[in-house]
Amino acid sequence: MKATQFLISTLKEAPADAEVVSHQLMMRAGMIRKLGAGIYNYMPMGLRVIRKVEAIVREEMNRAGAVELTMPVVQPAELWQETGRFEKMGPELLRIQDRHGRDFIVQPTSEEVITDIARQELRSYKQLPKNLYQIQTKFRDERRPRFGLMRGREFIMKDAYSFDRDQVSAKASYQVMAQAYRRIFDRFGLRYRAVAADSGAIGGDLSEEFQVIASTGEDAIVYCPNSDYAANMEKAEALPPQGPRPAPAEALVRTPTPGKSTCADVAALLGVPLERTVKSLVLATDEIGENGDVVRSQVWLLLLRGDHDMNEIKVSKVPGLNVGFRFATVAEIEDHFGCKPGYLGPIGLKKPVRIVADREVAVMADWICGGNEVDVHLTGVNWGRDLPEPELVADLRNVLAGDRSPDGAGELAIERGIEVGHVFYLGTKYSKAMNATFLGEDGKPAFFEMGCYGIGVTRLPAAAIEQNHDERGIIWPDAIAPFTVVVCPIGMDRSADVKAAAETLYGDLLAAGVDVILDDRGERPGAMFADWELIGVPHRVTIGDKNLKDGLVEYQHRRDAAATKVAVADILAHLK
Ligand code: ATP
Ligand code: MG
Ligand code: MG
Ligand code: MG
Repeated sequence: MKATQFLISTLKEAPADAEVVSHQLMMRAGMIRKLGAGIYNYMPMGLRVIRKVEAIVREEMNRAGAVELTMPVVQPAELWQETGRFEKMGPELLRIQDRHGRDFIVQPTSEEVITDIARQELRSYKQLPKNLYQIQTKFRDERRPRFGLMRGREFIMKDAYSFDRDQVSAKASYQVMAQAYRRIFDRFGLRYRAVAADSGAIGGDLSEEFQVIASTGEDAIVYCPNSDYAANMEKAEALPPQGPRPAPAEALVRTPTPGKSTCADVAALLGVPLERTVKSLVLATDEIGENGDVVRSQVWLLLLRGDHDMNEIKVSKVPGLNVGFRFATVAEIEDHFGCKPGYLGPIGLKKPVRIVADREVAVMADWICGGNEVDVHLTGVNWGRDLPEPELVADLRNVLAGDRSPDGAGELAIERGIEVGHVFYLGTKYSKAMNATFLGEDGKPAFFEMGCYGIGVTRLPAAAIEQNHDERGIIWPDAIAPFTVVVCPIGMDRSADVKAAAETLYGDLLAAGVDVILDDRGERPGAMFADWELIGVPHRVTIGDKNLKDGLVEYQHRRDAAATKVAVADILAHLK
């Protein structure tokens, strides 16, 4: 590819709504352009990365014996009514109607359609096992689309579905996928961890998430440095509490005034000292832009020891808020932040609380929370999963660190990750709901045993950037770089020698199957280098008159501090 043919559109500044570095850099490098909230154009430079991700995924899926097909993006509601998900799934499922008023959905995933295919096409146990996959556009009307491709509404996912005759075989199919995923993520060249995830009521331990390690990740991962133990926070919190801790979950809801209780009530109920209960203050603000859109949302949670005097809270650890604070009114919040509060107060959810009696703080689930009235507290308050977590909460989560791992191998540590893949044993959940059966060896119909396996194809590049960047831009691993090598001739228009050497090297690299771009735009070196460093091409060869006279060119890896001189005759071997 020659740069003049290609579409290169780098930006000096990232748009104001790009909060995380991957979003900023993908915008600045001209990889994506926003069309609407959570909806992006994949520009040529970005699409090359996406295509490389897809190619690796496709190769390894095929190698693992999976078979590719494509299912429609727009799917009739009837199938989704069979499983009940049309009603149950909530606003994340985009429902649309055609001109006849018939209901359709835009696929957020495709269990229903694939199960429908299976019940029609897979009639006998002799056709099993089967693993069918697609790499296809998905739509989820995420509550807070943000961070560019990281949490889009429209995105590309690889979704695979396995069909087996019995549980033993289904679990073997699951393991084949779990291994294929390791090969896939190894090939991307990223640091990642496979972590145990919650598989709900069905699957025992048969659910794992593949998390790219990045300090900016939305998910917390608990792992043991001495063993293979790793789990996501949800799963780790479900571990039985260790040591002498009160067992409080149900008790907390039965406080004297249902729905409202003080820390003192809670302390009495649990039989713990007041200072070992927790009270919290949740502040959430939505900054509203000129057109009425939410520009930025921030949520702060303050957890305080139960004996803390609410009138003297000094909030110093929370970004942007460094004042003495007490229960504030909406007007005060508005005044302080200079923006309109979207909501103020607790966010209700479900899970049980775990009070860590010997460490004076609680783990993040179902808090007792200040109800914006002195001495009035709400129970059952939790952190909405999709809400951003302030540093403070991340800090407090470390209370899990220091617990021993369930395998006894050592203490637990915590790091943050980005969920880029998920493998899941489904059992007969969908096959039963949709009456999907095959004829077994005994001549009787049996329900398919299923598994599902996703990879966030468009999230992956964003995760790669969160993990691999510096102040100049992106640093792609070779496997998914938009181009592997860039040839930068200096003064190509002035020097016939430079032009000839650049064209020759470019031709040789192409012939050798190297994914190379020749920067023939005639930009000055500074601007040219800045572009390629921003775009993150891992290998650069610079060709200039002076070096060329000595038979040399310059090579620099994107991670190198300086270039090294390489003989023209050796550069091809050097790059391969
Ligand atoms: P999350 O917890 O981030 O919301 P999920 O658990 O809902 O993701 P799955 O249903 O497991 O996602 O889908 C499989 C994969 O699709 C995820 O592991 C992730 O990589 C990707 N994915 C899910 N939602 C999005 C999104 N909104 N934008 C981009 N990729 C996504
Ligand atoms: Mg989700
Ligand atoms: Mg998830
Ligand atoms: Mg998931």
